[in-house]
Amino acid sequence: MLRTARCLLLPLSAVVFLAACGSESTDTAKADKQPAAVQTPKVEQQPEMASGLLTRPGWTYSKQAVAAANPLAAEVGQSILAAGGNALDAAIAAQLVLNLVEPQSSGIGGGAFLLSWKEGELIAWDGRETAPAATTPNLFLDEEGKPLPFMAGVTSGKSVGVPGLLKMLQAAHKTHGQLAWQDLFQPAILLAKEGFAISPRLHLLLDKDPKLRNNPAARAYYYQPDGSALPVGHLLKNPAMAAIFTQIAKEGADAFYHGAIAKSIVAAVNQAKLPGKMERSDLANYLPLAREALCGNWQEYQVCGFPPPSSGQLAIMQLLGILDQVENPATASEESFYTAEGLHQYLAASNLAFADRALYVADPEFVEAPANSWLSLINPAYLQERASKIGEGFQGVAQAGKPENFKSSYALQPEQPEYGTSHLSVIDAQGNGIAMTSSIEQAFGSRIFVDGGTGLAGGFFLNNQLTDFAFKPEDEQGKPVANRVEAGKRPRSSMSPTLVFSNPANELVASLGSPGGAAIIHFTAKTLLGSLGWQLAPQEAIELPNMASFNSTASLLETKGFSAAMKAGLEAKGYQLQERDLTSGIQMLLVTPQGILGGADPRREGWVAGE
Ligand code: GLU
Repeated sequence: MLRTARCLLLPLSAVVFLAACGSESTDTAKADKQPAAVQTPKVEQQPEMASGLLTRPGWTYSKQAVAAANPLAAEVGQSILAAGGNALDAAIAAQLVLNLVEPQSSGIGGGAFLLSWKEGELIAWDGRETAPAATTPNLFLDEEGKPLPFMAGVTSGKSVGVPGLLKMLQAAHKTHGQLAWQDLFQPAILLAKEGFAISPRLHLLLDKDPKLRNNPAARAYYYQPDGSALPVGHLLKNPAMAAIFTQIAKEGADAFYHGAIAKSIVAAVNQAKLPGKMERSDLANYLPLAREALCGNWQEYQVCGFPPPSSGQLAIMQLLGILDQVENPATASEESFYTAEGLHQYLAASNLAFADRALYVADPEFVEAPANSWLSLINPAYLQERASKIGEGFQGVAQAGKPENFKSSYALQPEQPEYGTSHLSVIDAQGNGIAMTSSIEQAFGSRIFVDGGTGLAGGFFLNNQLTDFAFKPEDEQGKPVANRVEAGKRPRSSMSPTLVFSNPANELVASLGSPGGAAIIHFTAKTLLGSLGWQLAPQEAIELPNMASFNSTASLLETKGFSAAMKAGLEAKGYQLQERDLTSGIQMLLVTPQGILGGADPRREGWVAGE
């Protein structure tokens, strides 16, 4: 049975923020001591590999548009709209194509967060993976109680969460779909049968992946006998996926969660080198959730995103809210923002937001929200107090705040790497909108590749989403981390599918989001600032240089994005800078009087189709 907590998007009252859905707290432990800030390790993490910059023109359509991480997926989404489907139908069909053409990022072996806006109703569909029932908090500890090396955890059966994508899409489709479920599968079935040309980015990621060749099924399918990756342009067919999609089209998502496909997933997880403990009952019992979106005011807009288990929307609204409340906000213009002072404000606000995320955010079915509401973290009075902590220069690692004097019983979670993922945005001719971020976590997930028991060539990757939990379940004093592994729990996410509405008219203004691990928060915040803050077209906003900070001693700037003067100015303020590719994959659609403007990130292979 699906638990629903859907809501109508109501006009805002004098209260600034809409209530988030109140899921019952099951963890009532309280303690008086605020944990001390831990010195998080120096930031070394690198989001999914860069594959060079493409030229993207920006797009304008008058009626409808689909923005996805690959042109084939965007075009299929548009063809579904043209055939009378709505935004949700287009998103489902495009997602199935992404599973084939961008298999490194998302698919039926993973999960997703989908925000659906249809005829005045906003639903946050949670298809996040869950930890199997036999999982314990020690999942990623070795026999001596030490955390496993991160990559050993990733490429193991332990990292595989129960996939949520298909059951979530089916639940969303039953509520808001227009075309028949099976019709949405036909383009992907055709593509799987007839093949598609391997893209430069897929080739590069296959070529450079240090682990994927260790999986015999993936090696046999994606590599040549000499171990080199299939070349760019190679026509790749996926008979296993054609068979799997055909069955799911006919029988519904249950065909995936029961029977031969489920059996093959469980066998692959339990026979991996470091096996997981997944049972067929875990798949059979998976439940997608319909949550209430978390919305906040920013400028003249209402910005809606995903509540926990994602930390994305909370961090973005904290970041933007704090930046509005500093003295002389540099966010006033692009010119003032891209200066040493503007970047200092941004990085300092980020560190404050990431400090709160490390302490508080986890699956709301398992942890209490601070002061009984996630909204306490984005309350303007609280953000004003947080903004007051921003001084002249780098402040060191920030401590978490205490909204309404709340004293947390949890330990801080040190930052861990997060990678992978795909973002999809759709706006249809009726003004319905979708923002969906979909993930198998790292590029190629756990690297476990399954054929669904078909015995045919091809298949799909299983996620490694459980590595989004803290590897160490407690701190040195034995205090638990909110985002520790627990049976049935959903790992904390950074994914930030975002829909923006006019305020108070509640008309859809924009849909956007990005992959990029924890840097998703920065990529999305930057694009909101650029497009809605500084009135740039989505394409221009997406192309602004990326920066990121995760409350560590180091801050990241996109390579070649920043002038020597800006960097010197930041260093003079005490910042330690590291230059990185920061490979965002932002897709955005913006409704304007001139039509729907679309943008796709030139750092990956995104595209916007429409008419
Ligand atoms: N696993 C990450 C999350 O759920 C996303 C990974 C990525 O986008 O790189 O937040």
